[in-house]
Amino acid sequence: MLQNLNIAQIGDPILRKKTRELSMEEIQSSSIKNIISKMIKTMRKYNGAGLAANQIFEPVRICIVEILENQRYRHLKSIPLKVLINPKIFIKKNNFLFNSYEGCLSVPNLRGKVKRYNEISITYYNSKGNRITENISGLESIVYQHEVDHLDGFLFTDKVYDNSSLVTYENYIKYYEEEYKKELIEFENKVKKLF
Ligand SMILES: [Zn+2]
Repeated sequence: MLQNLNIAQIGDPILRKKTRELSMEEIQSSSIKNIISKMIKTMRKYNGAGLAANQIFEPVRICIVEILENQRYRHLKSIPLKVLINPKIFIKKNNFLFNSYEGCLSVPNLRGKVKRYNEISITYYNSKGNRITENISGLESIVYQHEVDHLDGFLFTDKVYDNSSLVTYENYIKYYEEEYKKELIEFENKVKKLF
């Protein structure tokens, strides 16, 4: 397991503080651009599916997501790189919760099951300062909910509803990955039938 000193680890108080929203001026500033490029480098270096600014000790409301055949999250489809500034999530009505077997670069070598919403809408500013609203459904929505939780001072471990689901990464692959993939396929088929 890669020990990562550049990423705040569970127990660091910065992970528990709600991050600060940015003004339009700040969004276009070079210091914010530097933070974003540092975030991208760090996420890619450690094979993350996303990263929140407070994970690299910057208490501002920015997160990024990217999934490119990510080895750590083999059940997720690819998402091109996205920078989300001041993101807000809205939970859609008539929603479903599903089990998400999550890990985090700030919680080394641990996975656990949390509940995530199937359908969300998210508003944010991109790095050019354009306001964007997107509807996201299915497994992809996990990553956004996980990252926005970071910006509000929460970790996935706060939401693990059954502590017996906590496992090391190695044991996740060895004992749980196959079973969890089947569960997700069943969930997706159930949702498809209802719409
Ligand atoms: Zn995380």
